[in-house]
Amino acid sequence: MTGIRDGVMSVLGKRQDLRFVVIGAGMAGILAGIKLLQAGYRNVMLYEKADRIGGTWRENTYPGLTCDVPSHSYTYSFEPNPDWTRYLPPGAEIQAYFERTTRKYGVDKIIRFNEEIIRCEYQQRQWHLETRSGIRDVADVVVAATGVLHVPRYPAIDGMESFSGDLFHTARWDHSVPLDGRRIGVIGTGSTGVQIVSALSERMQKLVHFQRTPQWIMPVENPFFSEEQKQAFRNDPELLKYMQNEPEYLANVERFNNAIVEPDSPAMHEIEAIVRDNLENSVDDPVLREKLRPNYRAACKRLIYSPDFYQAVQRPAVEVETGAIDRIEPKGVRMKDGTLHELDIIALATGFQADQFMRPMNVTGRGGVQLNDVWAARPRAYMAISIPEFPNLFMLNGPNGPVGNFSLIDIAEHQWHYIEQLIALIDSGKYGEVSASKEALEVFDSERIAAAKRTIFGSGCQSWYLDAEGVPATWPWSQQRFYEAMSQPDYTAYQLVALAEATADSAVSDT
Ligand code: NAP
Repeated sequence: MTGIRDGVMSVLGKRQDLRFVVIGAGMAGILAGIKLLQAGYRNVMLYEKADRIGGTWRENTYPGLTCDVPSHSYTYSFEPNPDWTRYLPPGAEIQAYFERTTRKYGVDKIIRFNEEIIRCEYQQRQWHLETRSGIRDVADVVVAATGVLHVPRYPAIDGMESFSGDLFHTARWDHSVPLDGRRIGVIGTGSTGVQIVSALSERMQKLVHFQRTPQWIMPVENPFFSEEQKQAFRNDPELLKYMQNEPEYLANVERFNNAIVEPDSPAMHEIEAIVRDNLENSVDDPVLREKLRPNYRAACKRLIYSPDFYQAVQRPAVEVETGAIDRIEPKGVRMKDGTLHELDIIALATGFQADQFMRPMNVTGRGGVQLNDVWAARPRAYMAISIPEFPNLFMLNGPNGPVGNFSLIDIAEHQWHYIEQLIALIDSGKYGEVSASKEALEVFDSERIAAAKRTIFGSGCQSWYLDAEGVPATWPWSQQRFYEAMSQPDYTAYQLVALAEATADSAVSDT
């Protein structure tokens, strides 16, 4: 189908009047804004529900917030940053990096803040959008960059409202609440809970870590970069480029990805041995060690990288509570065995509803099709990017894309490379509507599901990677296959409606 591509490339730029709306000003939305401006489009608007950019890095501000991807790899490929202070970037530095980059590329001028899109409806060949405050907009192309983990999941524990201290979800950390010398309960042992416990273990008078399921912990060092190193990065763009694409890190990511899709590979056995040794060698007390030992395979849940979690849980002020929670009472957390943990603060590190994506936005596609109906069983999209009957709407970090211990920036950049080729079809003036065909999605998704069940994520544990039917909601093939898939769309998988035809249809529906 290169004919389609060649045909449209020759008329590129014909429709520079195209109106783009990008939903969400987190990492992916900012990327879309930068790329659209760089491509020469001037009619671009980003809508952001909050009052600042940053997505997950704006919402999460809990103590210890750190990205487990090395700093220099957690950057846009076109915007290296010599000033990272540590090997693993602290959340606040990432937020500052995105704010700086947004300004540098002029994206800050095209964002409307405090405007949550609540309705997005396809009518007469365009998307009609409405914000919560009542602003209306019309776009030719919508890019949904709404993020994956943005709706906090609150646990169903009785009595939460009765607690007399402070209780909040970790993505809503209340910084007005003093911490030092007080008693805190952290419910949850995902990446978030582990980072918080590690950060607070020496500050609290008492810290109870409520662990429903233990986690495998991958040891990692997190050294500071010296002033000399940072100066060298500033002086030498080649060195900085090298840091961004550090061969050892890239090789590790590739090995890790291959291990995910081949659970019985030597690479996966190697990962298992490392985390097992970490547990054996880091935790002295055999009773605590057994409490912390998972009964499922490493990397089945998202693997946790931590330099100091095992040290933290062995500090005198920390207790790992593995019993079942009965309820929350005014004074603290009551266990099923009757024990009461008296607390001043309860932090709910209980994760996110990972299947929401654009929702709760009300999205209506061609012919009145409702996204909520299409996604009733599970969110699906061809290549994680396009949904049949939702033309000219493309997703960054959409459902069933790659997730794991690697940079989502890299994923979003490859996805953008693919999306811009779909946009070129519309921009050419030849095609009025571009969306994946139903047949292509069916084939893609059935192959994806079969492969996903064979990944390590499907090897027998509970995690946010699993969809409502227990199938890993991820890209289940190698990283290389993802890069190849994103290099150029297979246009035969798309329903392409000629502009003339789409316009005629919309004229009919107008009458
Ligand atoms: P999570 O991985 O979904 O973990 C939620 C935790 O809460 C689990 O331990 C879960 O236990 C527990 N939980 C849920 N409901 C509970 C209940 N009713 N009673 C007791 N425990 C309950 O959430 P997260 O830690 O916020 O992490 C989510 C994702 O965010 C990560 O996997 C990662 O992708 C991202 N993240 C990344 C970083 C980073 O360094 N890059 C840092 C933080 C977060 P069960 O295991 O038993 O269900």
